Amino acid sequence: MSLDEQNIMYLPGVGPRRAEILKKEIDVTTYDDLLHYFPYRYVDRSRIYTVSELERIVSGHSDRVPFVQLRGRITGYQASEEGRAKRLVARFADSTGAVDLVWFHGQKFILDKYPPGREYLIFGQPKEYMHEFSFIHPEIDPADRAARVSGGLVPMYHTTELMKRATLHSRAIRDLIYTLLNTVSGGLPETLPAWILEERALAPLTESMRQIHFPESAEKLRAAQHRLKFEELFYIQLNILRTATLRRNKLRGIPCPRVGKAFNAFYANRLPFALTGAQKRVVHEIHDDMRSGRQMNRLLQGDVGSGKTLVALMAMLLAVDNGCQACLMAPTEILAGQHFATLQELLGDIGVRVELLTGSTTKRRRSALLPAVASGEVDILIGTHALIEDAVVFHRLGLSVIDEQHRFGVEQRSKLWVKSTYVPHVLIMTATPIPRTLAMTVYGDLDVSVIDELPPGRKPVKTVHRYDAKKAELYTFLRTEIGRGRQVYVVYPLIEENETMDYKALEQGYETFCEVFPECTVCMVHGKMKAKEKEAEMQKFIRGEAQILVATTVIEVGVNVPNASVMVIESAERFGLSQLHQLRGRVGRGAEQSYCILVTGYKLSEVTRKRLGIIVSTSDGFRIAEEDLKLRGAGDMEGTQQSGDGLSLRIADLAQDGGILRTARDVASRILDADPNLSSPENALLNARLNALFRRRMNWGLIS
Ligand code: ADP
Ligand code: MG
Repeated sequence: MSLDEQNIMYLPGVGPRRAEILKKEIDVTTYDDLLHYFPYRYVDRSRIYTVSELERIVSGHSDRVPFVQLRGRITGYQASEEGRAKRLVARFADSTGAVDLVWFHGQKFILDKYPPGREYLIFGQPKEYMHEFSFIHPEIDPADRAARVSGGLVPMYHTTELMKRATLHSRAIRDLIYTLLNTVSGGLPETLPAWILEERALAPLTESMRQIHFPESAEKLRAAQHRLKFEELFYIQLNILRTATLRRNKLRGIPCPRVGKAFNAFYANRLPFALTGAQKRVVHEIHDDMRSGRQMNRLLQGDVGSGKTLVALMAMLLAVDNGCQACLMAPTEILAGQHFATLQELLGDIGVRVELLTGSTTKRRRSALLPAVASGEVDILIGTHALIEDAVVFHRLGLSVIDEQHRFGVEQRSKLWVKSTYVPHVLIMTATPIPRTLAMTVYGDLDVSVIDELPPGRKPVKTVHRYDAKKAELYTFLRTEIGRGRQVYVVYPLIEENETMDYKALEQGYETFCEVFPECTVCMVHGKMKAKEKEAEMQKFIRGEAQILVATTVIEVGVNVPNASVMVIESAERFGLSQLHQLRGRVGRGAEQSYCILVTGYKLSEVTRKRLGIIVSTSDGFRIAEEDLKLRGAGDMEGTQQSGDGLSLRIADLAQDGGILRTARDVASRILDADPNLSSPENALLNARLNALFRRRMNWGLIS
């Protein structure tokens, strides 16, 4: 039986109850899962400290107290009970002083196993209270029997409260893995072909697993980490690239080679300005895809204001020139409406028919519109989710453009596909820049185009960080700007867990602005309002009848009010970096100097200060995304959640391991070039491993 078929329950020391907890808490159900439960860090236990040194160690680390090891004797135990909380305290002394060891559970076990008088090594994080030190749930070993853990680097494993209650703390996990590694004495079956190990100079699996859990030296640990990171990224890439290759071979796109009347008329007569170099390049990339005979599946990334709409329109005109229809799907009615207005104006009278379909399109209008879509009279249909309803049937849909893709789930996007018997080209536009490494992993099967240049003449938005306490100055500044005829956004955070309080803050904010600016019209938009009401308030602002818009992040995406020049973001520390960047993109769209003001209290963590500092100092969306990735880790990044089961990397780190990722991708792509189905005998191992790894996952690679 292979390791991924061996139930963890049968590992000595586990049993049914702990197996249940391992499954529930950390998703470990097999031997293989446990082996891949890697330490999150290592602690150096080659050094033994004395009690007299603790003061210095603790005071030197105000934020994160290090783990230390002491050697001494337990001089006595004391049990106490406060309500239902039982506590066992041991006095532990070496020749320089004494500390308390404290246990809240497992007390009987401790008393039985560690009688007073003998010499022990204890290991844990000292806590200080009035110059006295204590260790909560320290690791403890008889001094003469601690060989396995006393030398060098000790692995630390993440555990949860529930696990700790079943005495499955870090130490217990380590023991289980130790047992496991000993039961596979013959070594683990290798999971990478020998030629890859050789070519990339990677350590064998058995050796790597031993060293990752029980490192003999920092150097051997590094080699093990390198191999395991490579393997993890390699199989992800192999999976993504194989799916992409299969899809490409299977799906024929509608050939759109012709650059015809619509495109040329627009280009010659209607284009209001010269395209930027980046826009030109991207239009070429799209056209190359659309005429290739393969189906295009392209992600168009471009910072807010970089001119994606124009590129999308030109792609749609290419579809029209080749006898097809195109659709543009936006995440909100407001956005769909704006796109509709923009496109109508851009197209003028060149004879391309554009229509709008949203949830609030009237029945009468729909019944006139849908037949015109089905007959092909409508060339371009713009809309919201309404576009994917079954009632909407196209005559010949050649291209689907999806704006602000992270608002749509994979499933919704895939629905656009079944709108026709053949598969339309797909262009996904996003203003959330995605770091290269993440894009290759999450959207690895999409081709990516980047508009990395803003139209000329844009004034960068001035961004500053201000404290709550200085509100009066802020109001004065806003008054000046409004006096100049400008408009102001004020945005409040809103998260589900905190909804009631957040709405309160928003409404209080609204009232304050009404009071402080009696001469202004203040409007408010938030997610709990009815669509009609929201629309009406929003329109007031768009038409310039209101000077101040108080809102939650519903305005984050796409809204275009060039006269708005100030973005005030309340409780800015509670927004993600990409979100702040998006919000800032709402201003700086007109000719005026624009401002983004991040408002927070004084009390901020180090990381938060760093994050806000990044937004203040740069307007480069890609840099912001990279920094965000570094600070938050890949799991939290926008866009990763939709990748089926999230991006659960066990060891590789996309913020750091870009180099390994590229190598892994190169190797994977070379293999697939020669053998797209992995059907040749020498790729049998890869094929089997790939199937084992991904059989539990949804096949999300095929959609997006
Ligand atoms: P986004 O990429 O955020 O969707 P838009 O397509 O809304 O950006 O474009 C932002 C603004 O820039 C629009 O007002 C648009 O008319 C303008 N714009 C687009 N391309 C150019 C260009 N090449 N030169 C000047 N202005 C442009
Ligand atoms: Mg846009």
